[in-house]
Amino acid sequence: MTIRVVDVGQGDGMIILSPTGKAIVVDAGDRGRDAPMAAQLTEDGVTSVDLAVMTHPHADHIGGMQKTLERFPAKIFLDPGFDYGSGIYTRLLEHLEAAGTKIVIARRGRTIDIGGGAKLRILAPDEPLLGGTRSDANSNSVILRLEYGTTSMLLTGDAEAPTERRLLADPDTIAADILKVAHHGSEHSTLDAFLTAVHPSLAVISCGLHNKFGHPAPPTLDRLERAGIDVLRTDLNGTITLVSDGTRWSVQVAEGDTSALRIASGEPLRPRPPPGRSRPRPEDLADDARGDTASEGSPTATGGTAPPVDAGTEGKRDINTATAAELREVEGVGPAKATAIVVYREEHGPFQTIHELTRVQGIGAKTAARIAERFAVFPAPDEAPYEEMR
Ligand SMILES: [Zn+2]
Repeated sequence: MTIRVVDVGQGDGMIILSPTGKAIVVDAGDRGRDAPMAAQLTEDGVTSVDLAVMTHPHADHIGGMQKTLERFPAKIFLDPGFDYGSGIYTRLLEHLEAAGTKIVIARRGRTIDIGGGAKLRILAPDEPLLGGTRSDANSNSVILRLEYGTTSMLLTGDAEAPTERRLLADPDTIAADILKVAHHGSEHSTLDAFLTAVHPSLAVISCGLHNKFGHPAPPTLDRLERAGIDVLRTDLNGTITLVSDGTRWSVQVAEGDTSALRIASGEPLRPRPPPGRSRPRPEDLADDARGDTASEGSPTATGGTAPPVDAGTEGKRDINTATAAELREVEGVGPAKATAIVVYREEHGPFQTIHELTRVQGIGAKTAARIAERFAVFPAPDEAPYEEMR
């Protein structure tokens, strides 16, 4: 999976090429600044877009969207569903309607399958939409967690502190290897607590050289530095390319050196514990004997009776969208079992029943019962608008 944070000057414009070749555009630069997006899409061999995402209706994100989608038509357009009366936005919606593009409103809780096991998880906006903030358009930005294998990236649009505080109510959902820093690095975003919860290895800032807003703001750069997070910037590095094989990242920039970035070391990033718990000790990854009991075979191997597996869904999370890090929260599930579950799901498709867990290599009835206390198979959500993405 390839992600390009395109150097569109002051604004945001990103391209995601999924493992199966789906093309996704997330914002498309300012008005009159659509050329860099078109050049990159052409270089990547894209002729049409499977999904176009507008994080929010400000011109520095959608000014170039209509021209981009005129040339590279989109099947689906993901819209924050925030009322905004600008001419650019109104004309864009008229164009999409005329072009037959399906408009889908982004709301927290939906997941978009982009192929090959990669997903876009919508974390915001959530109902009720935020109101009375410094910029409600910014605060209701579409926030996506891009997930592929054990790798992840958080796309934040121009979200500000109120959005970050809301996301912090469920900090497990926002941890990511790479953070697209919100709002071009403005001082109104990227709270210390937010950085602690996301705990990225790399932060990427999209902004124009010597822009009139002073982005990125020095206090934000200080917060990133204090948190020990590497930073790449489109104003200094040009277009930034991030490639995930599902386990490791590699990074390329138009200008500058990436060899010192921790994320580009070639080492898989360690699965993270949820925020608020201690970070894994160096020995934890080799410590599968503790979490992943290798001797657990058939339920009758020890002569005992397998505990009943609770198939209820109340208060549980979806086993079919659970990340390896989330699964590791279950007692007895270490990195090997968590990864085995994710890999099984990718190879065999979603679990049809929670009992199917026992078919996963290394998962016996005991562990399946423990997992089933916290995870369940939910009835298939109505994902019809996204079917053609598969
Ligand atoms: Zn912006």
